[in-house]
Amino acid sequence: MDPQAQTADTLIHPGWIVPVIPRGAVLENYSIALTGDRISALLPRREAEAITARHVLELPGHALMPGLVNSHGHAAMSLLRGYADDQPLMSWLEQHIWPAEAAHVSAGFVRDGVELAIAEMIRAGTTTFSDMYFFPDACAETAQRLGMRCQITFPILDLPTVWARSADEYISKGLALRDDVKHSTLVTVGFGPHATYTVSEPNLIKVATLAAELDVAVQIHLHETRGEVLLAVESNGERPLDSLHRLGLLGPRTQCVHMTDLGDQDIALLAATGAHVVHCPQSNMKLASGTCPVTRLLAKGVNVALGSDSAASNNDLNMFGEMQSAALLAKLHSEDAAALPAFDALAMATINGARALGLEDRIGSLETGKLADLIAVDLSQPETQPVYNPLSQLVYACNGSQVTHSWIGGVQVMQQRQLTHIDLTALGSRTRVWQERIRNRFPDD
Ligand SMILES: [Zn+2]
Repeated sequence: MDPQAQTADTLIHPGWIVPVIPRGAVLENYSIALTGDRISALLPRREAEAITARHVLELPGHALMPGLVNSHGHAAMSLLRGYADDQPLMSWLEQHIWPAEAAHVSAGFVRDGVELAIAEMIRAGTTTFSDMYFFPDACAETAQRLGMRCQITFPILDLPTVWARSADEYISKGLALRDDVKHSTLVTVGFGPHATYTVSEPNLIKVATLAAELDVAVQIHLHETRGEVLLAVESNGERPLDSLHRLGLLGPRTQCVHMTDLGDQDIALLAATGAHVVHCPQSNMKLASGTCPVTRLLAKGVNVALGSDSAASNNDLNMFGEMQSAALLAKLHSEDAAALPAFDALAMATINGARALGLEDRIGSLETGKLADLIAVDLSQPETQPVYNPLSQLVYACNGSQVTHSWIGGVQVMQQRQLTHIDLTALGSRTRVWQERIRNRFPDD
């Protein structure tokens, strides 16, 4: 054994380790050692006994797995959770969400909304999230302060909003943020053009050129509903996915969110270009947007990640719920109970998300040398007993409340369900102030 591996900061002896790579593996009588921000060893327990560690944690009955990756959302919108429900997408956006945002969104709204979202996400096992929202600098600052890993794809729209007046201003502010956080170990920054129906072709071309030049990610809402696709075909004779391809925006840096209306040609194009799909099953179901054909995409080799979308269209940010919904929806949609088995759903919420976000070499699986982003899930309580197969429990029986411990880059952000970086009492008070303001339609100050 490597003599350096003889010491570690933390040594964990769980009931099971679900490393995600190798595919489908469940390790019993294994241990994991953390040193600095990395996983320094993953080895049989009897060999691990030789390691001297400052902290030794016995977690019998727990599964240790990579932290979950929420590949699409708008974290600050947690402050609008339950504000407008039971509406179709366009009236939900145009009559409720956009007016509320115009009246209330500010850097302070984003700071508090993101903190609320991060508290919820860590408590349900997420250690990395992707965010597309106004005041992304406030999101970046909050994520770094709370020790949370985050991909920010800053918003770009043709329309003026409270954050920027023109596409050029969105882009220059976003690139300034990218520069500000270039040394951050937690935050990466890419482009977030909202959708093909809200960003004009010249502006999408600008994004394509800059993203290629800087080699950074682009995330866009695409084919969210059949109506969106039909409208595009009526107005310019082209499906939005084809438009993106023609504009040079479809490639391995591109993350296409939703993708509910897909024909065989669309799937072939995604596979050929290496673009990623982010499936948001609960948001798609709640807004009756349509169904992403996950099993057909995976069969053709397209990388499919999972996202919650915002708490305003979900209404939670719980990736255990998304895994379960993705698996059940795939079975129903394909009329095949064997579709999207438990491990495939788990992979979508871990390694596939890491791949979509360009972080595959650092997170998404438990492997020696990767960043120590991991969670412990207690399977010893009645809701998850007995345990014939930990993978089955994680996807079909857990609801997120079984997550007891969480580390991000080796830093413990939750211990025995206590958040180490967030004061929930203070956060709750600030959240209720926003609730009163929004309910009473007081303008933001
Ligand atoms: Zn979205």
